[in-house]
Amino acid sequence: MTPFPTSTVLGYPRIGPHRELKRALESYWDGGSTREELLGTCARLRAETWRRLAALGLGALPSNTFSLYDQVLDTAVLLGAVPERFAAAADPYFAMARGTDGIAPLRMTKWFDTNYHYIVPEVGPGTVFRLDAAKPVSEVREARALGFPTRPVIVGPVTFLLLSQAAPGAPAGFRPLDRLDDVLGCYAELLTALAAEGVDWVQLDEPALVAGRTPAELAAAGDAYRRLGSLPGRPALLVASYFGDLGDALPVLADTPVEAIAVDLVRGGTEGLGALAGKTVVAGVVSGRDVWRTDPDRARAALRAVAEHAGQVVVSTSCSLLHVPYDVARETDLDPALRGRLAFAEQKVAEVVELAATPYGEAQAPPATTTARPLPGTPPREGRSPYPVRAAAQAGHLRLPPLPVTTIGSFPQTGELRAARAALVAGELDTAGYEKRVRAEIEQVIRLQERLGLDVLVHGEPERNDMVQYFAEHLDGFAVTRHGWVQSYGSRCTRPPLLHGDVRRPAPITVRWTTYAQSLTDKPVKGMLTGPVTIVAWSFVRDDLPLREVVFQVADAVRAEVRDLEAAGVSIIQVDEPALRELMPLRDAQDAYLRWAVDAYRRATSGASDRTQIHTHLCYSGAEEILTAIDALDADVTSIESARSHARILAEPAVAGFARGLGPGVYDIHSPRVPETGEVTDLLGAALRALPAGRVWVNPDCGLKTRTYAQVEAALTNVVRAARRLRG
Ligand code: GLN
Ligand code: ZN
Repeated sequence: MTPFPTSTVLGYPRIGPHRELKRALESYWDGGSTREELLGTCARLRAETWRRLAALGLGALPSNTFSLYDQVLDTAVLLGAVPERFAAAADPYFAMARGTDGIAPLRMTKWFDTNYHYIVPEVGPGTVFRLDAAKPVSEVREARALGFPTRPVIVGPVTFLLLSQAAPGAPAGFRPLDRLDDVLGCYAELLTALAAEGVDWVQLDEPALVAGRTPAELAAAGDAYRRLGSLPGRPALLVASYFGDLGDALPVLADTPVEAIAVDLVRGGTEGLGALAGKTVVAGVVSGRDVWRTDPDRARAALRAVAEHAGQVVVSTSCSLLHVPYDVARETDLDPALRGRLAFAEQKVAEVVELAATPYGEAQAPPATTTARPLPGTPPREGRSPYPVRAAAQAGHLRLPPLPVTTIGSFPQTGELRAARAALVAGELDTAGYEKRVRAEIEQVIRLQERLGLDVLVHGEPERNDMVQYFAEHLDGFAVTRHGWVQSYGSRCTRPPLLHGDVRRPAPITVRWTTYAQSLTDKPVKGMLTGPVTIVAWSFVRDDLPLREVVFQVADAVRAEVRDLEAAGVSIIQVDEPALRELMPLRDAQDAYLRWAVDAYRRATSGASDRTQIHTHLCYSGAEEILTAIDALDADVTSIESARSHARILAEPAVAGFARGLGPGVYDIHSPRVPETGEVTDLLGAALRALPAGRVWVNPDCGLKTRTYAQVEAALTNVVRAARRLRG
């Protein structure tokens, strides 16, 4: 076995330091460039990454961490798991990711507790697995041609199947993991093919083993790695776990012939690592999930503890660096004191290299423990009556028709709007000019909604670059970066704010935009706020306070904004919590988390009076699994993603028990496709079978900001038509 170099990373950002991949993809999709041009950009990005990692002195370089869209989708293609209906598309890969005019895309959901989204593969009893190793093999060759031997990174067989969903039409009780044997045949072939390419090490990512797994699933994982481990002539295997400790999966993996195991020592401890005696341990001591500098003493202590048992210790990141931006050095606008606390991908690689280069040494004085401050006072007394009382109070003055039609908040962010914002930032447009532009947009959005016949209007969020960043820019305790982009899905990136201090709201944030919109129309305009959990989940958060305390600080800021909106005469207020689930621990303590997350939401919203209708919105949250918690948020109306999963959620028993207004999404806004009136009618029909008619709302799956006005007008026309048809 070739020994593992002493330092590595489990993966690296791929969108490009200047979001080159985003631009190349979008230009290709719009017909503005050829496939060759797109692939040329991708090859340059990969080459730059390898050169940079090597220049920073990193020992082992990964490959196949690049993706045109998503690594789970890549794995489905690698295994030949392309559902029949996509096979004939002009480009099956992008058809699965984004849909075509005639075919809805595959479902997309959160990658564990990150804000990255993967495409959910479909696996059925009839799926024919056939290896297509072109991508990993060509990346290995490409890197080698540049002088870099690499370690291909591939989603492991167990995680691939655990993240897949049963193909439509699969018999009840079928689970994708039932196909493990067949899939392992492909992985065995792949390992052989990579060995033939001269590859020494292959990394198989198994983060699913970190989430709580059943004994049967753990046994399957053990069998899988015993089988792959016994393959003659194979490369050495690194099984990578991340986003937490392996728990019960650790002894299972330890008991297989795999040579190396990567463990997350930022979220997990070193207990139990004795089971890895003799193996190479890839020690994730530099966090891939936050942007703070690594405490070298803590990292060295972990490395020493690992070294007591491991055959060899490799210094690494806790997970792929996909989840952090490229380079702090570009953030020249940040306060130097804050900048000194930060490490992005580039800096984290340097930390890994540095830790690997210096002896772990003797234990230093134990680091001072931070004492948690007491939580801010108990949550304010709930001022609101039970739902039926509120519902009656609201019906009395809102006078909405049955099946009221609304949207989730944002309307298309046009090129002009983005240009105006860029001009404002660049100092080419003054604030007055910019705000005039925003007001014009609000007026247009209000007129459009009136013309389309919507019942509860929104102002369209034209003043917001992003639903979290916008609030971060207006709250104390946050800083925003200029170039700190991370991939969210496909070509979409977000720029998470840095929550580095105590959070406070110095002044009202949204009131003037909402009241301006309301002044233009007699229909109710819904005020739009982002909830405390989501603001925290989509920021990089200080690590010197318990998370719960940080979320409660943000909840108090939102509460103040709710109060001010209400005082300004806004009668419907939506507080979005699309990320409600994201801060949930992957294993253990999940109920405790949900309890405090719900408390935070209620703290933010319970200052409203009975007459004010509180809406919430969730998407990608696997809402079916937390419906009880969603119900406990006690919002009057909840909109959830549903169109993309064909309203499967409505079959959940908990839906029947859902005690408030519910708007299952009837329009998948993640795809350019416009739904037919008939489709929307069918989805609404399903909702009406599951819920009393008086509690069904009609809305898209999510905000419309990524769509064009042409798509939105066509889609909402059909949505309103369907609602009217059913009202009759
Ligand atoms: N109100 C937000 C919007 O419409 C909600 C977005 C989200 O849920 N991700 O854009
Ligand atoms: Zn949403």
